[in-house]
Amino acid sequence: MATKQTGTKTKTLAQLTKDDVLRSYSGRPGCMCGCLGHYKYNPYLLAEAQADAKADGHGGLEPGDFSSRSVSIVLGKLQKLVASGAAQAMYDDGGAWVSAQDEAHSYTVYLRGSTRVVDPSSASHDLAAFDPSKI
Ligand SMILES: [Zn+2]
Repeated sequence: MATKQTGTKTKTLAQLTKDDVLRSYSGRPGCMCGCLGHYKYNPYLLAEAQADAKADGHGGLEPGDFSSRSVSIVLGKLQKLVASGAAQAMYDDGGAWVSAQDEAHSYTVYLRGSTRVVDPSSASHDLAAFDPSKI
């Protein structure tokens, strides 16, 4: 997992664009090994995708492992699902991914190393907003 680095952009789910997404997952709820859905890398982030796959212990990526269209669709569905209130987003602690699912589908986007996603509702837990006089 990438450590926080200078130049890291922090965004909310609604602010994410396809350029922030290294990899997307779409499938039926349940097992995420790939048996119920598909992982696709963003073809515009080839070098990062190769480094990510290598870190995951996979060998070379094939053309079928990439889909610009899938990355766009999954991000759009995820944003719509959460914005509509139909599903609650789940966030990785480090902001490396965000996921949501309804009864039929599970969507996850894994972000590139330079972007992190934050849960807007957790802003009140930020120490910067901590007010000791309220205790
Ligand atoms: Zn499986």
